[in-house]
Parts: sequence; C-alpha cells; structure tokens
Amino acid sequence: MSRYLGPKCRLCRREGKKLFLKGARCSSPKCPLEKKGAVIPGQHGSRRFSGKSSEYSLQLREKQKAKRTYQVFEKQIKIYYEEAKKQKSATGKALLRLLETRLDNVLYRLGFSASRSSARQLIRHGHVTVDGKKVNIPSFLVKKDQLIGLDQKALKIVEVKKAVEDKDYKLPLWLERKAAVGKIIRLPDNDDLPTEIDDQLIVEFYSRA
Ligand code: SF4
Repeated sequence: MSRYLGPKCRLCRREGKKLFLKGARCSSPKCPLEKKGAVIPGQHGSRRFSGKSSEYSLQLREKQKAKRTYQVFEKQIKIYYEEAKKQKSATGKALLRLLETRLDNVLYRLGFSASRSSARQLIRHGHVTVDGKKVNIPSFLVKKDQLIGLDQKALKIVEVKKAVEDKDYKLPLWLERKAAVGKIIRLPDNDDLPTEIDDQLIVEFYSRA
C-alpha cells in the first residue's frame, strides 16, 4: 500500500473537480482547472469525460474523490465506513463526519495550514499538540473540546504564522480558534459537511455485494 506521490493537480483533473490539494494555488487563476477546465489526464482525456457513466463508475468515482480529498488509503476509508455503519446517524454523513474530525483535517479547517498535506507535514514533524501533548498521527480523531495547538517552532514557519494571523479566515461554525489554539465546539452537523462529496454514492459503492 503506497501513497500517491505524483502531481496533485492530476487527481483533480481525474475527478473533474477541484479537490483543493495545493493550498493557495487552488483558489488562484494558476489552478489548471481554472485555466483548462476539467480534462481527464492522458491522451484521450477530453473524450473520456463525454462518455456516459455507469452507476458503478459514479459510485467508484465518488469514493475515490473522498479518498483523494482527505488523502486516505483504501483500507482507512473502508474502516471509517464500517465505523460509520455502527453509528445512529445516516452512514454517509457519519463517514464524512469521521473524516472531518481527523487531526490533519481539523488543522486545515482551523486555517492553520493551507492544505491537508501541509497539515499532515506539521503533525508528522511533531509541531501539533492535543490537550498539550504532542500527537504525530494525522489520522488521530479529535473529540469535542480537545485543544489543538501549534508549537513555537511551527509559528516560526512563514506560511503557518501568516495563516494563524489571518483575521479574514472564515472558520467553520463547528470550530473555534484563538491565536494558535483551536477546538471542536460541536461535531459538524449535516449542514457543515462538504456538499461536493455525495456520501450516498459512497454508501452505495460499499453496499454492493
Ligand atoms: Fe486541484 Fe489545487 Fe491543482 Fe487546482 S491547483 S487542480 S484545486 S490541486
């Protein structure tokens, strides 16, 4: 099992949607999807998008999109799905909720990093604390009211310092942040979950016999 190390923009082009994998560049005119539109990579890319998609391929693509957005392995997303099935709320929403509460995603949503990849890097390098203790596992699931902090070394990184000081950052309603400390004040409601991922299609994908 290996992590995809190729060009990130290729993944967005494959999904035909912006997955916001490269920080500030994704919201700039430099994003290839802004310039060329969603063309599937490869020689016959533009033709492949025009074909009619089967139900299965739609479900598969949605699952792939979630995996690539949250940068998780197949095995991990399957584990989240199995966990989501045990919860009282709708499985698809529970799945997205679990993905949203991963430490790398929470750091990204708090605005402490420009992308989930840079959040993951900060965590792996030991710059992130949960309730005052260093946590270097990006998949750590953050609970309500746990305090997420950055160490002094992280605050010396120009991008991180800039992100922490950004007063215009629009914080999701389920999070709170003061300076370089943030927390989940309530688990994300259905309305807080990303609308660009059709969780029902993912549930249908995994429900196939
Ligand atoms: Fe995706 Fe960002 Fe590359 Fe645009 S710039 S294609 S959103 S990774």
